[in-house]
Amino acid sequence: MLQRDAQGQPIAIRREDYAAPAYWIDTVDLTFDLDPAKTRVLNRMQMRRNSEVPVQPLRLDGDELNLARVLVNGQGASFRMEGEQLVIDGLPDSFELEIFTTCCPIKNTKLMGLFVSEDTFFTQCEAEGFRRITYFLDRPDVMASYTVTLRASKAAYPVLLSNGNLVEQGELPEGRHFAKWVDPFKKPSYLFALVAGKLVAREQRIKARNGKEHLLQVYVRAGDLDKTEHAMNSLINSVLWDEARFGLPLDLDRFMIVATSDFNMGAMENKGLNIFNTKYVLANQATATDADYSNIESVVGHEYFHNWSGDRVTCRDWFQLSLKEGLTVFRDQEFSQDLCADASARAVKRIEDVRVLRTAQFPEDAGPMAHPVRPDSYIEISNFYTVTIYEKGAEVVRMMQTLVGRKGFEAGITLYFERHDGQAVTCDDFAQAIADANPESELARLLPQFKRWYSQAGTPRLAAHGVYDAQNRSYTLSVVQSCPPTPGQPTKEPFVIPLNVGLLDASSGRELPLQLEGESEATHGTRTVVLSRAGEQITFTGLDAEPVPSILRGFSAPVILDFEYTDAQLLTLLANDPDPFNRWEAGQRLGLRAALNGIAALATDTTPVLNDAYIDAMRSVLRNPQLDAAFKELVLTLPSETYIAEQLDVVDPQRVHLVREAMRAQLATALFADWEWAYEQNHDTGAYSPDPTSSGRRALAGMALNFLCLAARASGDAVWPGKTLQRFKDAGNMTDRFNALNALVSSGHTLAAQALARFHAIFKDEALVIDKWFSLQAGAPDRGGDILPLVKQLMKHPDFSLKNPNRARSVIFSFCSANPGAFHRPDAAGYVFWSERVIELDAINPQVAARLARALDRWSKLAEPYRSAAREAIARVAAKPDLSKDTHEVVTRALA
Ligand code: ZN
Repeated sequence: MLQRDAQGQPIAIRREDYAAPAYWIDTVDLTFDLDPAKTRVLNRMQMRRNSEVPVQPLRLDGDELNLARVLVNGQGASFRMEGEQLVIDGLPDSFELEIFTTCCPIKNTKLMGLFVSEDTFFTQCEAEGFRRITYFLDRPDVMASYTVTLRASKAAYPVLLSNGNLVEQGELPEGRHFAKWVDPFKKPSYLFALVAGKLVAREQRIKARNGKEHLLQVYVRAGDLDKTEHAMNSLINSVLWDEARFGLPLDLDRFMIVATSDFNMGAMENKGLNIFNTKYVLANQATATDADYSNIESVVGHEYFHNWSGDRVTCRDWFQLSLKEGLTVFRDQEFSQDLCADASARAVKRIEDVRVLRTAQFPEDAGPMAHPVRPDSYIEISNFYTVTIYEKGAEVVRMMQTLVGRKGFEAGITLYFERHDGQAVTCDDFAQAIADANPESELARLLPQFKRWYSQAGTPRLAAHGVYDAQNRSYTLSVVQSCPPTPGQPTKEPFVIPLNVGLLDASSGRELPLQLEGESEATHGTRTVVLSRAGEQITFTGLDAEPVPSILRGFSAPVILDFEYTDAQLLTLLANDPDPFNRWEAGQRLGLRAALNGIAALATDTTPVLNDAYIDAMRSVLRNPQLDAAFKELVLTLPSETYIAEQLDVVDPQRVHLVREAMRAQLATALFADWEWAYEQNHDTGAYSPDPTSSGRRALAGMALNFLCLAARASGDAVWPGKTLQRFKDAGNMTDRFNALNALVSSGHTLAAQALARFHAIFKDEALVIDKWFSLQAGAPDRGGDILPLVKQLMKHPDFSLKNPNRARSVIFSFCSANPGAFHRPDAAGYVFWSERVIELDAINPQVAARLARALDRWSKLAEPYRSAAREAIARVAAKPDLSKDTHEVVTRALA
């Protein structure tokens, strides 16, 4: 399978072309002589022909390898190269194949395959990195047993790790040593890993429920051991949780996590040897924020849960990526929720997850890169590690749980792993197992239609409308569903949508009993109505007055809900809805409505955008003694500029920015006394602990400081900025310190410069903190176009490096992807900067470049002059010869 056509253009791989492999690899015996400039790899494989497919030559994948020797059954064999593939004809039915290659880890800036980071060797093989280590059938349905011998200088690389169990180690001549590892489980090549270098480990022995002992290890560089406690605790919690919730035990004697500062993604679930971006491992209270702590817990959980959902049962092909990713995100979301002490903290986690989905995935689903949860084609698979595969995929799994119930879902998971353990399977297999374990469920009844969630891209829209019939004391909700066209999919069939609904009394705000037409009795609380037709009507009876409907509670489906709520109805929901998600959502709808009105009215920065009712409602939430600080902070956070922009047909990013800033300024001033009160109430959280309650209080105190400094900007008051600087200096943890710094920087106060300088001086040796320092500045609110020159300045800072993905992201992505008000400049300089960085990065690290390329996904929605300028910038990138497949795919889709 060649990946470029005759013109040298990359070729799309299609799901419907899937064919089983022509050969199987039963065992792999790898020997590495590790050397940064020239690593030698000896690969001995026991192979056999797949008798179920026609006889054909063996084609092994390779990428940037130097081939030295090929032996078949110990004899020199004839072979040929077709592009990067090694092709061998005339092979017997089963044989030993021995391949000797070398590669150059020190020059590997793509960070795929074998690379060096801070004098330590690491590998990254998902999705197609193993072919950069040796010639192989580099596809997930070829599963083999691995034995790995690592040889290296003992002084330079004292720790030698690979998957599975350490079976032998010892000395070699010339100061070298070796370690031999055997993985007891078969695995696809993308789960292979090795690590070699100077590392130290935090260790913990734990006993599982069945009494079995396991060794858990977190490997880091020597100076970082004091930042591993939280990752270790998260790992222990993950092991216990998967066994308790799903009956899935740890299946290895030893489970290792290793941190590297050079990593394209968050982390990687290599069997028994997870490799992590330091960002998702290292934390102590002085260097990490509450958000970091919570991300570490999620990512450690995520990678650990892959041990079953991904490693024990893997994907047949990369189109099935969401089989492991959607399921594993769902599992890590549930894990984090189950660790919460109460319902409010669970709801906060749910709201945060939905916010990610709506600000990142909804735009993706409406743009040029829109693809189904199970895509039909790709040019470069690395481009499909997307919020659609991960977060929307998790929502699809969540809907299955909603349809079969929590117990039924657990039974489905049990059946899935019983049925498919050790196999490489498809999304269909997963859905089938959940349905088969619940034969009486709505999921089983509607399974073929439910699976449209896997095949159809785009975010469905529900247009709901309510009519009260006083004579019959009934209330009828009509719901019409639709889904916009997406690339390659002009029309869509109706989805199965579990819609969680409740009704509130309009005057008292109390929850009403629910009785559907034809039912003899009413029930209390939320009802799940399963929609499956293009249009449906739901009639509730026994109602004395028109109720306020609370629709899509808990965000029970990844859809956009349109309902013509009056302001009064939204205020009722905001004050009373027992469903915390919809309570928050009511506030978001009010804020969004104000923003859209302000944008339509061409508000200037002094027009009041928010009315008194909204401000009073926000004050009530802030002062409400029944609500947790974390929830208040979410309600008081206005919809983001990206989310607001997504609601408009034509976007003027400067106008969106201006109106949202005006809203923030208004909240700052109108609630000044309330912010002072909230700060006093919440700023002292005692001895540091990252639990949801105290982190919620720190978040609200931080928000209060932010508004107090913003109000000071308007009034000229010096008291709060002064207090904020003091807080910045005295803070006992990074969350409080960073929030104070952020308050000064984002209000544009003159004290910010001094605080930034001090922050850099304190943390100059903490790479992850310096990332925050860069990112805060590049992401700060733009005032008169001042951020782009600052970003260019930051790129000249001695600490800046384009080669380190975390650092590149902290400056360039914080500006291009996370700061729309600064990036979208009328003079197009933001876009020019973007195109230069994409091209520059593409030569170093195509995966990072292609992610950056997506910052202009939504260019066609922009108003002029932005639209033409953005298009021109994309075209400039697309015109560059020798673009990577990664970036090529993103920009050509954007222009299509
Ligand atoms: Zn994953």
